[in-house]
Order: sequence, then C-alpha cells, then structure tokens
Amino acid sequence: MPYEPFKADRAKPSDLLKNLKREYIESSQWVPIDEVSEGLVILTTDPEWIQTSRVVNNVFSRSRLVYRVCSQREFNATLNLFFGGGGGGGMSSGSEMGDTSMDEMLSAMGGDEEEVDDIIQEDVSAAADNELVKLVNKIIMDAHRMGASDIHVEPAPGKGKTVIRLRKDGSLLPYIEVPSSFRNSLVTRIKIMCDLDISEKRKPQDGKIKFNKYGPLDIELRVATIPSQGGMEDIVMRILATGEPIKLNELGLSARNLETLKAVISKPYGLFFVCGPTGSGKTTTLHSVLGHINKPETKIWTAEDPVEITQKGLRQVQINKKAGMDFATIMRAFLRADPDVIMVGEMRDKETVSIGIEASLTGHLVFATLHTNSAPESIVRLLDMGMDPFNFSDALLGVLAQRLAKRLCKKCKKPHTATQEELKSLLAEYSTELMNCASWRQDANAAYKALYAEWVKLFADEMGRFTLYEPVGCEDCSGTGYRGRVGLHELMVGTDLIKKNIQEHARVAEMIANALNEGMRTLKQDGIEKVLSGITDMHQVRVVCMK
Ligand SMILES: [Zn+2]
Repeated sequence: MPYEPFKADRAKPSDLLKNLKREYIESSQWVPIDEVSEGLVILTTDPEWIQTSRVVNNVFSRSRLVYRVCSQREFNATLNLFFGGGGGGGMSSGSEMGDTSMDEMLSAMGGDEEEVDDIIQEDVSAAADNELVKLVNKIIMDAHRMGASDIHVEPAPGKGKTVIRLRKDGSLLPYIEVPSSFRNSLVTRIKIMCDLDISEKRKPQDGKIKFNKYGPLDIELRVATIPSQGGMEDIVMRILATGEPIKLNELGLSARNLETLKAVISKPYGLFFVCGPTGSGKTTTLHSVLGHINKPETKIWTAEDPVEITQKGLRQVQINKKAGMDFATIMRAFLRADPDVIMVGEMRDKETVSIGIEASLTGHLVFATLHTNSAPESIVRLLDMGMDPFNFSDALLGVLAQRLAKRLCKKCKKPHTATQEELKSLLAEYSTELMNCASWRQDANAAYKALYAEWVKLFADEMGRFTLYEPVGCEDCSGTGYRGRVGLHELMVGTDLIKKNIQEHARVAEMIANALNEGMRTLKQDGIEKVLSGITDMHQVRVVCMK
C-alpha cells in the first residue's frame, strides 16, 4: 500500500466531495483525493478495513479504486485543508471542533423533550439525504440479487459500526459495516420506508416495505424493529419470496415421493398437511401442490400470513388479526363461498383444525401447514388437540414432513469413490430407521442385502461403485462449498392401515413402522439417498434431521 504524504498545496477535489459530509469522513476514515488514469484515489488511515468492507464502492460506483495510506495527523490535516478549520491546513492544527459529533453537542445541551425532537429532526433530514437513500436501496437490491432471505441491521453504541449481515441458504454472511455517523439516519430511513413511528425507539414495531415505491424492484420486505442494548434499535428485514410457484417436478422430491404425492393430491376431497419448522419451505411446497391442481374449473381459496407467492387463478386472502381477519374467521367465510380447494397458511389450534376436518368431510380438498417435526408426530399432536379420531382418519389424505438441506456447490464439489467403510456407515444409518419394521425384524440380513442391491441399481455406476462428494469452496459459492438448498421429504400417506392406527390411537413408533413397511422413507433416509445422488453430504443431512 503506497504511502501518501500530506501536501499543503493539494487542490480540493470539490466534485468528489460534494456528497460527503466532513463528519462522515472523520468517522469512516477515508476520503477521495484525486481521480487519475488508474482510478479513483482514496486516502485512508485504515486501508485494510476500508478495502474489505467495500464501503467506498457503496458511495462511488467506480470500478477501479486506488488506495493510499497516511497517518492520522496527516489525514486530519488533509481534511482541514479541504473543509477549513484548525490552523488553515497546517500540520499542527488538529481538529478539536471536528472531533465533537452533533450527538455529543446535542447531549451536552441537556436532556429535555426538545432535545429528543431535535435529534429526530436531524435523523429525518439525514435519512432523506441522497447518498443514504442510495445506500439503503443498494443494501436491499444486493440482498435480493444474492438470493438472501433476511437482512440484519445491528447497530452498536458510541463510535461502534453498524454491522449488516445477510441470511442466505439458512446461514448469516457478513455484508458491510456502516460507520457510526450513519447509524441513526440509516435506521430512521428504513422506518420511514415502512411507515413506522420514528419517534418510538423503545418498543418493537413491525411494518412492510413495498420496495417498488423506492427502487426498480417489485419486492416486499417485512420489517421488525427491536430495541437493543445501549439504546440502539436493531432491524431485521425479511425479503418476501415473490413471483411464480416452483413446479411440483422441480421441488427435489424423489421419484417415488413425487409419484405418490401426485396421486394423493388428485383426490377430490380430504385433508393434507405439510409440516416442518419455520423456514423449511412449507409454503413454497404448498404452492407447488396448488399449482399442480390449479385448473379453470377449480375454485381455490387461500388464507395466508403473509401472501408471499401469488398465482393466477387462486383467490388469496391476507390474514389481518387487527381487523379481525384470523384463520378461523376466514376459513368459515370460505365455506360459504363455494370452494373446491382451501389452503390455510397455518393450523395451530383446535378451532382451525376442526373447521378443516369438517370442510374436507363435506367434499372439499383442504391443505394446511403444521409446526411439527415429523409426519407421524403431526398425527399424534392433532389427536392430542382433541380431534375425533374417526372423523380425522376419514379426512386424512397424508402428511408431508420437510426440511431444507444445503446443496453442494455444483462447480467445486470434489468427487471420490465411496470406501467400504463409508458405505457401511451409510447403510447402518439408513437401516437404523427401519429396525422397527416387520421385514427387518424377521430377517435383517436378507433385508440388508436387498437394500444394498437397490442402492447399486439406483446410485452406483456400471462397476458397482458409488461416488460421494465433499464441499470445497469457490467464487460461485462464496467459498462455503454449498450453494442453494434441496428439500428432504417424509411422505406419510393416509392408507387404510394408518387410518386404523389413528382410530386406535396407536403409538408413534407403531405408526412409523407401518408406514415404513408400506414404503415411506424418513427424512433422514431421503437425505441419505440425496447424499448417494451427489446432491448434498451427510453432515448437512444430520444437521437438518436433528430432533
Ligand atoms: Zn463452489
């Protein structure tokens, strides 16, 4: 990094400085000093951070930047030269006035109501500042372009920087750090964008940004603010998935699951659940299912919170609890509105489940999500809620449990031929799930051999060898070795035997054993099959299948 000495006769680059405030330059410790053929010249005291944070790129859209380093004293002297103050640019001047921030000055004036108003007024005008508006827009557009699901804004008190992280494929990645002088205006700007009360900083608030009002992207963000330690306000923005549903064939279901699922959802009436924890892609899957049966002759009502994916032909209703539009109310309204199919974002209480069962027994197809871990567990949970086992077993078409596992990056994953040890361990893990099955209890040895033969047929090459992959990391996957996610599925069908189990209040273990005997695969088994297909690795399968 070349050193740039202080030059008392340096010309002020007015063009480059026109959108930069002195306060911002002082706290962020970089300033543009010249534009030469090699690029824009940036003077800084902290070259490593300035370069890695890419903060300059957020302000200047130049593709080429040249960095120069100097001492703190020389940096201050250069600022005095550009902005005045001190001893007219002399090395000995220092900048005592400049070191006092507006906040410090205001707080020194006393702590009455007016002061609070003044600070807010300051934030509002700073929030309207063109560069800041651009910065917030860029954060949102970058996050969307990178396929992130959430944007976390984490301010620190005092001179601490505001950390911004993005959640992508389930994990947080560092994105940028914003200098403390931008903290309040950044938070205020986001709150203005979603119509929140900007003077309320002590209570959590939630709102929504319709981004097409501010930028060239038609997306919506759900915003939550939370007061945090040190009088700060954290903000988390969820980018709502938009656009077309994924085709059922492209959901990553195994061939067997896809075929079974298509058969189950083509029934004229009954109850079908998709279950899994938050963020496991339940809504995406339900919309794919609806897309499959969405025909002009079918009336489909949906109640969702929020409506994320939209589909032509569906009549979609947004939950609004404040206005009395909860799931139960809307479901009852649907029943009076001549439906064929009803989709309910979430069934979490006895009332909504009862209406769902009633609707399906009166000839409607009802889809819903549940916050349960596995397919058999969902059934037990619903029975525990007090559902009538006979009505419920009559209505039940099936339950699909789902998880999202990280997909190995196609570009850099490293293949190797599976060793005997690796195969044995996969077989052991797969068959642990089958131990309660009748066929395994009768003759485990034969069942083991049959399973191995099936694997050879499905996953091995002509020589009978299996290929497994390891994550490596490349530019495409930000060095993580993983890119995108794949669904793991456990599809339990409401067969006669399962219906009988429900009526008899059978134990979960018995229901699992019966379902496995009838061909169900557990989440983990589906994951192991996806490891053998080279889509993911065992580590990721274990992570998402942990109970
Ligand atoms: Zn890669």
